[in-house]
Amino acid sequence: MESRMLEILVCPLCKSRLRYDRERQELVCSADRLAFPVRDGIPVMLESEARDLNAAEPQAGAQ
Ligand SMILES: [Zn+2]
Repeated sequence: MESRMLEILVCPLCKSRLRYDRERQELVCSADRLAFPVRDGIPVMLESEARDLNAAEPQAGAQ
């Protein structure tokens, strides 16, 4: 994926810059805690396709 492309990619919800997770092939919005998938080099900027990072991570301190 081109880095130039990343510069113009913003979150469709809050319009903030996205962070590219190279390993997971995801564009992460830290504000919304959502990760948008990149499929075949094409970012899928749909809220319905995004992964909820809150749901994916175990709750700290909850035992
Ligand atoms: Zn966002």
